[in-house]
Amino acid sequence: MDNFLADYSAMDTWLRCREEFRRRYIENLTEPIEQKLDMAFGGAIHAGIEEFWKGNFENVFKASWARWKEIDRNKITDPRNMEKFTRLSNSINECLEIYLDKHSKSWENQDIVEEEIVIPELGICGKPDHFHRGILYDTKTATDMGGDWIKQKRLEQLRSAQYSIYELLLRHKGLSVEHIVIEVLVKPKGDKKARIIPLELDELLAPSVKERFRQQLDWNLAEMRHYIENYKDVKPWPMASSQICVGKYSPCTFVNNCIEGDTEKNLVKLVPRVEHLQCRGAKQ
Ligand code: SF4
Repeated sequence: MDNFLADYSAMDTWLRCREEFRRRYIENLTEPIEQKLDMAFGGAIHAGIEEFWKGNFENVFKASWARWKEIDRNKITDPRNMEKFTRLSNSINECLEIYLDKHSKSWENQDIVEEEIVIPELGICGKPDHFHRGILYDTKTATDMGGDWIKQKRLEQLRSAQYSIYELLLRHKGLSVEHIVIEVLVKPKGDKKARIIPLELDELLAPSVKERFRQQLDWNLAEMRHYIENYKDVKPWPMASSQICVGKYSPCTFVNNCIEGDTEKNLVKLVPRVEHLQCRGAKQ
């Protein structure tokens, strides 16, 4: 644990709340799958897209469905989540088809596809979706929330450490990121079909922004290491700022634990976090 490697997700959690980081990455607790079906859906779509960019065209649908079927539907207890599970299941093929429609005519062997890159001396790691001819690509599945949701989505992506960490990792491999393109794959909703909205985040590549990110990264990683080494037995972890404890659409996963304590009733609602990065010790 002393050599913890931070990916963007760990860094975003750290920046959100020290205590949330402790619970997710030290205690290794997370919410049950039924509370993160949208995320699981994104993972399933990603699995198919990865096969596509690797040139394994016959595996695209199989890979997505294999990942989605890892969800044990018998463990979904809330009827609203079961309704969501069914709705998302019915969206998988349409989302993949729209993606393939857009890209299959222009498929080229990519420079990087879902490769784990680590900078051990800095303590960061990550797995960019794909990178080709100077363009860093990422796909995000999303729900049309109406109003100016896509503008908000873009701002949310700009605030994430994800693409700046990827840029650093690719630079470490001698590759220069000239553009960042996020393809937002919008799920079908009502009579609206699935669609793709491209977002460019090139402002993250301005030299001043890269320099500032690097300074903030060094600061945050040093602080993260300090907490990991010195606060092993401290609960909760000291906060760097006041927390709102409410996300954009729902309260923080740990809100009951933080308010009422780690009672049996509150702990039973959490499950062990599964590590997906091989460099952080994921099981094959
Ligand atoms: S409930 Fe609040 S303090 Fe507790 S982990 Fe979540 S954001 Fe942090």
